[in-house]
Amino acid sequence: MKQIAKKIVLASNNAGKLREFSQMLATIDIEVLPQVHFNIPEAEEPHITFVENALAKARHAAQLTGLPALADDSGICVAALGGAPGVFSARFAGEPKSDERNNQKLIADLQGKADRRAHYVAVLVFVHHADDPQPIVVEGEWHGEIIDTPRGSNGFGYDPYFLVPDLDQTAAEISAEEKNKRSHRGKALALLIERLKLDV
Ligand code: IMP
Repeated sequence: MKQIAKKIVLASNNAGKLREFSQMLATIDIEVLPQVHFNIPEAEEPHITFVENALAKARHAAQLTGLPALADDSGICVAALGGAPGVFSARFAGEPKSDERNNQKLIADLQGKADRRAHYVAVLVFVHHADDPQPIVVEGEWHGEIIDTPRGSNGFGYDPYFLVPDLDQTAAEISAEEKNKRSHRGKALALLIERLKLDV
């Protein structure tokens, strides 16, 4: 590996993401600091694509810390709903954001629809500095189906309704380890690590 940053800021205050990103990036000697460490407020996410939102968050964190920054944006895209809720996944049922109400709305919107295909998406953006003209962008997807009755209590968000067909288990029934291996975020993170190893 060539010379890459040893300390980076994560443009998220989510403890689960921090743990996951820290563990995996430690394998290439990168220390991840959450943006709350620098008293940075969450950036706006005004865009209609994952990549634009992730880029905005990464630039914002790099700008305010002077450090390289990593951001992610993720959501679930449901085929029968034309890809909704997509970037609006966290607030699908409006403010204040609520997993329970989001799931109720998802199931209501899918009533009578036979096509249950859905996929999670995660886009990760790494900027070497705030004005970086060449950010690293990676993406992971995880395909499954939406079921009407929730199963399992692990995970978060839409996981109890997201069936992984080859396991016949929902994302909320599998272990965190298994989820990291299969998930959109886990796959994107593995790609990011390979890409960072090539970084100059
Ligand atoms: P964010 O990237 O943290 O803004 O997450 C967006 C939203 O997408 C979350 O609030 C969840 O509703 C949904 N989401 C993203 N990844 C997952 C996942 O792994 N499981 C369940 N829901 C997820």
